[in-house]
Amino acid sequence: MEHLKTIVFDLDGTLYEDTHHFQYYANLLKGKLPFEKQTLFEEDYIAVGEGTHTLKIGRVYDAKKDLILAHLNGKVTNGWTWEGVEVTKEELTSHYPDSLSFDLFDMLSIGDLWWVPVSIAKHYGLTSEQAYAAFLQTREHMMTDDFILEPLKEFAQVLEKLHTKYTLVLMTNSPQTDSDVILKKLGFTSFFHDKIYEANKPINTTDRLTYISKQHHVPYNQMLSVGDNYINEILPAAIMGCKTICIDPFELFKDSEANYTVKDLSELSALLDKSLLK
Ligand SMILES: [Mg+2]
Repeated sequence: MEHLKTIVFDLDGTLYEDTHHFQYYANLLKGKLPFEKQTLFEEDYIAVGEGTHTLKIGRVYDAKKDLILAHLNGKVTNGWTWEGVEVTKEELTSHYPDSLSFDLFDMLSIGDLWWVPVSIAKHYGLTSEQAYAAFLQTREHMMTDDFILEPLKEFAQVLEKLHTKYTLVLMTNSPQTDSDVILKKLGFTSFFHDKIYEANKPINTTDRLTYISKQHHVPYNQMLSVGDNYINEILPAAIMGCKTICIDPFELFKDSEANYTVKDLSELSALLDKSLLK
């Protein structure tokens, strides 16, 4: 990572790795279910967390057919019922002749922890409207003073040093109001030289990186993109010739285009410190 000039950071899951808000979200979703389903929800949520449930990060939940799917680039490879009974290959081929296309309502790609409680809630009958209301309520809660967000100390120190030596850019899909509150809670407000909100990644990732390159007079190979979403922040940047660090807590992207893969913020801090500050 020699000659690097500019570092582009994602926000959620990249500058902080708080998980309290997922529990808050899960509780809200659970509360919207009929009373007799709430214990079942709770049991499933714990089982997913312990890795003993068929539903896992990296898989897909087909809410219409109530099936859990594994896939490779959208092509279904395995399928299970909610209880974990494997679906036959014949059945899978007839259900899913084409590549999967994901949406936010019926075909849920379990890409991060946001998608776990919502999939369970949908399994127990929650509507998409109810689930979305719970999501908005959670985002709102994150803006209040009740929601305390502590930065990882070693990462905060690294970021502070980086901002005196490199141009730091924040690029997030979240709106400005939410993002600025989160930055303030973390104490990172003054560390970024440029901020791009509602970036519409991955569709506009390439355009945004082109803008950054022009605006800050830096060629792509002197830019580093750091993020926890492979499709949004890593793959498009790698294709353009930027350096990349992928945060991959669930080991979903072992054979990836990323220059470096780390499992959490602590590893990221160590890597940035070693390669950019020494
Ligand atoms: Mg993220």
